[in-house]
Amino acid sequence: MKETLPTRKIHQIKVKKPLYFSHREKLSCPYCGNSEEFYEIIENANFYIHYIQTSEGTLEPIEEEAELMGPIKFFCASCHSDLSFLKK
Ligand SMILES: [Zn+2]
Repeated sequence: MKETLPTRKIHQIKVKKPLYFSHREKLSCPYCGNSEEFYEIIENANFYIHYIQTSEGTLEPIEEEAELMGPIKFFCASCHSDLSFLKK
């Protein structure tokens, strides 16, 4: 009589990682369907430009700083509708 050894079953538990497809809802303009071109307008931006005057009397910018306060408005480049509500 042959005694069969109980075959040890090795269960490999593979942890299935949820696949995160970079599934992003593509932005598209609800008014005209444009999904390619958009533009932003930033309101209340302060620009600070530091000039130095040369001996020839011309102003040379040596330092520039921009302070953006916003709000930033987002527009459709096709029909120019304000789409700020779409961009969070
Ligand atoms: Zn549009």
